[in-house]
Amino acid sequence: MTCCDILRQLPIPPFLGLIISMKRTLLATAIASLGLFSAFSQAAEQADLIITDAMVLTMNQDKTVYENGTVVIKDNKIIAVGDESLEKKYQADNVLDVDGDIVMPGLINTHTHVSMTVFRSLADDVPDRLHRYIFPLEAKLVSRDMVRIGANLGNVEMLKGGVTTYADMYYFEDEVAKTVDKIGMRAILGETIIKFPVASAKNADAGIDYTLNFIEQYKDHPRITPAFAPHGPYTNTTETLQKVAKLSLEKDVPVMMHLAESDREQQVIAERSNGLSPVAYMESIGALNKNLVGAHMILVDEHDIELVKKSDMGVAHNMSANIKSAKGVSPALKMYDEDVRIGLGTDGPMSGNTLSTIDEFNQVAKVHKLVNKDRAAMPPLKVIDMATMGAAKALHMEDKIGSLEVGKLADIIVIDTKAPNMVPVYNPYSALVYSANSANVRHSIVDGKLLMKDRQILTVDEDQIRKEALEFTDVVRKTVIESGEVVQ
Ligand SMILES: [Zn+2]
Repeated sequence: MTCCDILRQLPIPPFLGLIISMKRTLLATAIASLGLFSAFSQAAEQADLIITDAMVLTMNQDKTVYENGTVVIKDNKIIAVGDESLEKKYQADNVLDVDGDIVMPGLINTHTHVSMTVFRSLADDVPDRLHRYIFPLEAKLVSRDMVRIGANLGNVEMLKGGVTTYADMYYFEDEVAKTVDKIGMRAILGETIIKFPVASAKNADAGIDYTLNFIEQYKDHPRITPAFAPHGPYTNTTETLQKVAKLSLEKDVPVMMHLAESDREQQVIAERSNGLSPVAYMESIGALNKNLVGAHMILVDEHDIELVKKSDMGVAHNMSANIKSAKGVSPALKMYDEDVRIGLGTDGPMSGNTLSTIDEFNQVAKVHKLVNKDRAAMPPLKVIDMATMGAAKALHMEDKIGSLEVGKLADIIVIDTKAPNMVPVYNPYSALVYSANSANVRHSIVDGKLLMKDRQILTVDEDQIRKEALEFTDVVRKTVIESGEVVQ
């Protein structure tokens, strides 16, 4: 019995009961420090943070749920997960009583271009937007400043939306890394390699050199994984793709790439390879391996899926971006059911507009049902699995993140179940997929640290970040108008 138990058993007036329920461990610690219950307090193991009164969705192999659950964190790891009896076994100065809210693994966004937040909602429905808006704007405006400003905004958006780890592809990823380090999130950051001149490199080889430097700089960072990010198979030569594949295996770093995304890509690759699909082409040149994470994977057939499985590569499924651009629907459900490493992503904020995976849930479930003409085709549990453990597997990080289990890194989010749109919760997975939105994320914890409490980010100045982003927006408007286009 701990001093907490004794406190619980004392006859107490209601107002004191409320204080005790909120500050139980603090009071216990204070009393223990007076020596009154020191003999009892020694029985409880010391932790750093305890989350109590939680509906815990562990997302472990058995998908265990604890309705009155507790999660115990020490340093940056989870040291216990279970029912309320754990409260007797552990004590901590920091106790987060979540009053029945949903506690689950932090969401993992497997594909984005975070710095593009500064271009969000521009020319959304212009058919040739890529050539009329995105490429000209990028040619003029991508810089270290733009990358930092956009990444800061995207980081805040993701953390507030429950994303604790993300995989990014853009330019000057060392600038993105600084923003990730500061806010305290976890990320895989891939420097883009492309055969055209871009702001951070004059050609693909220079892009590879840039990435090698970035890898050296960040290879030992506890929360940041540097990576190669060849833009796509059709925007790089076979030689570049082979070189990247070889270097990634030597350095043991991920390769992130858009793959099997568009008709144009399919056509260019077929012409280059005697009719092979993008996936089959990558396999034929020896570049389909366990380090690869393919984003989109819309244009894949049975044979491609077999190759994907054999290679053990990961897949990023970006539903809202794919349907907004009318590119098609990836057979993601089929890949998931066939044990492909597949997780949810948002794509960049110009493609899907939101960076919060939670806002993808609804669309992922509904579109796969529609495509399969089956209301039961995509149960909510599968969607949540693809946002957590599936995404961790896609990034080959399943030993570290993706579920709430002893020994895993403490990346945890708390979802408000008292918000009107979340009442009632009969089935937590269903409520998350069909009722929740990113504004329902109440607290976010990464690497054992509370980074957002009651929607307030504790590590960076959100107002300042928004102000900087809005100032940059003026530059974007001016550039669009000067190029003879319309801000629309
Ligand atoms: Zn993308």
